[in-house]
Amino acid sequence: MTEARVYNFSPGPAMLPEEVLSQVRHELLDWRQTGMSVMELPHRGKAFQTLAVEAEQDLRDLLNIPANYSVLFLQGGAQAHFAFIPMNILGGFKNAAYVETGIWSRQSIAAAQNYCAVDIVTSSKASHYTTIADEKAWQIPKEAAYLYYVDNETVNGVEFPYVPNSGEVPLVCDMSSNILSRSIDVSRYGLIFACAQKNIAPAGLTIVIVRDDLLKRTPLKETPAPFRYDLQAEQKSVLNTPPTFIWYFAGLVFKWLKKQGGVAEMAKRSQQKSQKLYQFIDQSDFYHNPVEPRYRSRMNVIFTLADENLQQKFIAESTENGLTNLKGHRLVGGMRASIYNAMPEAGVDKLIAFLRDFEKNHR
Ligand code: PMP
Repeated sequence: MTEARVYNFSPGPAMLPEEVLSQVRHELLDWRQTGMSVMELPHRGKAFQTLAVEAEQDLRDLLNIPANYSVLFLQGGAQAHFAFIPMNILGGFKNAAYVETGIWSRQSIAAAQNYCAVDIVTSSKASHYTTIADEKAWQIPKEAAYLYYVDNETVNGVEFPYVPNSGEVPLVCDMSSNILSRSIDVSRYGLIFACAQKNIAPAGLTIVIVRDDLLKRTPLKETPAPFRYDLQAEQKSVLNTPPTFIWYFAGLVFKWLKKQGGVAEMAKRSQQKSQKLYQFIDQSDFYHNPVEPRYRSRMNVIFTLADENLQQKFIAESTENGLTNLKGHRLVGGMRASIYNAMPEAGVDKLIAFLRDFEKNHR
């Protein structure tokens, strides 16, 4: 890693692969001999279209996306889709089913309630979102537009170790904070979406992977055209001006991922990085992680200090040591180390060494 750079544990916008950043810098003024920056290319022109098609294909290869799914590259972040999902795929249904496992599913439920009745099939709110109730105990209605869950709850540090069984009801998944960190069977899903700023690219892009039969459901008439999944699928995501620079960046990250060994390799690394960190936290009585081990996130490791008064000192000293953005979300407090694909294992090793020293000096 270049000396000037720090290990950035931010939950998003998050650390990006340095190799990709260098490539962007290298080709910033003149992209593939067009005499233009990629940011200046018209989105429907041949040059940008070559790039767009390549990026989509690389993502399809990485996640093994079947041909009957469309891949959309849309403007904006994930929260916007908390509304766009019901608007697009409620069809004639009056209700949708949601799994509540943390802050982000909580918010998506609130957004959906503006459009339909929401059946909460299970909620781990009573445990302060530190576990997930056994799937067998969920109450999934037979008649629902879809079953929605958040694969990785970024704030609460809770991740699904399995794909829920939704029967005949299409499964919808917010994969914003763990997409491309392990292999998935896309055919189990009706729709997967993810904002870019964690495991893909800079902020401003959301990727939607949607099974084509869901595109036949009639959207609510107030759905803005740039967020109509059916129209964007037809127009290859250029109905409006897409975030071209971020699309390009995402394409470079996809190529970087392929070079690293794809999502299987990312799964191996994520397992390794997160297990190390959890092991260290668990053997210490100075740090604590409240999440039931089976549901602990490989992407966002949350922890508290035994003495809350040390928090400010912890943040100041970790920052001084080149370990930044470890402060937890304002709603849950404590600390959080986000360790997405671009975080090298050396960053986690350095964090563990810091945790050890801090404990020694402050207990
Ligand atoms: N879902 C998850 C799982 C997230 O982590 C986040 C952002 N941290 C969001 C949704 C919201 O994303 P955005 O800020 O892009 O709207």
